[in-house]
Amino acid sequence: MSGSKKVGSAGRFGVRYGRKLRKKINDVEKKQKIKHECLKCHKMVVKRLAVGIWQCGNCSNKFAGKAYYPGEK
Ligand SMILES: [Zn+2]
Repeated sequence: MSGSKKVGSAGRFGVRYGRKLRKKINDVEKKQKIKHECLKCHKMVVKRLAVGIWQCGNCSNKFAGKAYYPGEK
C-alpha cells in the first residue's frame, strides 16, 4: 500500500456510515488480521480469503461465513 492519502480502511465505506460505525469497522478489520478458529478442526489458523469466505490453514476447510467473522462468535 502506498500513496499520500492517509485514509483508514473504513474510508471506502464512504459517508453512509457515521464516525462511530467507522471506528467499529476499523476495529473489525483489526480483528481480521488475527487468525480465527476453524469451525471444523478448531485450530486458530483460519484466514479470510475474501469477504465471507474463509479457509483453514490446517485442514483446508473452506467455508462461507460472515463478512468479517468466520462464524458466530
Ligand atoms: Zn480446520
